[in-house]
Amino acid sequence: MTLSELLHNPINFFWNALRTRGVRLVVYAIIVAAIFPSSRFILLVAVILALGSIWWREYRFNRNSKVIYLLAFIAFLLIGYVVTFVNVKNVDELRFGMSPWGDGIYQVTDGTYIGEGQGYRGPIKVEVQVKDHRIIGIKTLDYPDLISVLDNQIKIFKQQLLARGRLFAPGQPEMLRGATETLTGYVNAIQDALSKGIPAFPHYDWFSRTFLSLFIGQAPNRVTLNALAILFAVFMVFEYAFQSMLIPGTGRSINCYNCASCVGVCPVKEVEGVQIPMGLVLLTRLGNYERVMELSKYCVGCGRCAAKCPIGNSGPLVISAAFQAVREKRRSTSTQNKRDTA
Ligand code: SF4
Ligand code: SF4
Repeated sequence: MTLSELLHNPINFFWNALRTRGVRLVVYAIIVAAIFPSSRFILLVAVILALGSIWWREYRFNRNSKVIYLLAFIAFLLIGYVVTFVNVKNVDELRFGMSPWGDGIYQVTDGTYIGEGQGYRGPIKVEVQVKDHRIIGIKTLDYPDLISVLDNQIKIFKQQLLARGRLFAPGQPEMLRGATETLTGYVNAIQDALSKGIPAFPHYDWFSRTFLSLFIGQAPNRVTLNALAILFAVFMVFEYAFQSMLIPGTGRSINCYNCASCVGVCPVKEVEGVQIPMGLVLLTRLGNYERVMELSKYCVGCGRCAAKCPIGNSGPLVISAAFQAVREKRRSTSTQNKRDTA
């Protein structure tokens, strides 16, 4: 994968990129992050740790420069975090002085405003109508939480709020599952809507908005963790099938659960700090086929591991897959080089 390949044959470039498990991991993470904004921060940390562990091993063996790019990206995140933190802190202090709560409603001009707040199961969206510095109407546009909370908590609070015509803190809700989060999300949505009616209400700068939305998203909630658990299971199944199609013989490496039964029967057991054949299977999982090739000379091909592994992995299986993968990679690189020289 070179810059010249990207410029001259982008389809081939992206196809080759997808054959790398680290790249696929990033693609999955981007798709999930786009669907579930509340998972962004968790995914970002998970991807950095996973790529760090994959690329650091490669760096130790052949000084692969990818680890440098990863460090540069982490440095960018740290600098971005500090810049965003300072901006958010300053703007929040200014916002505190212009809060639309209570008598702050006098700053809100007449009109209809839409706001959003994070509820128990997702974002709650409301439309708030203001006239003569009073709240005269509230319409709930999106509400993913329990209907019982809507009936028992939200409705009562809404009536009280319309009677007073201004935003105030609701009382502690009864012990109803998720009621506190839902009510907080509802109040935050109203506050967000009212803030839009204050002409000089301060806003975060473009960098902070982009940084927060791309890398942090919404705060993780319980739904995020459930969704990530389901997606992880789907990823395992998909990755197993996809990897087997891309590089035959390597798909099962993702299912190895380190039981070491294969190591127990292998006459070689360990070389250069790698347990044989379990270490070969794990190196294959990480896509480090060159290292598997290097270590393959120690396998005597007795086949005992194949009979022992509960999921059908074996030293010879991953070794032959690694040889095929490296051969194909070298062939594609040499074709590319010839094309560049021509
Ligand atoms: S085939 Fe190779 S990896 Fe498997 S038990 Fe024999 S020597 Fe070990
Ligand atoms: S026996 Fe199979 S599942 Fe167990 S460590 Fe070896 S390769 Fe992995």
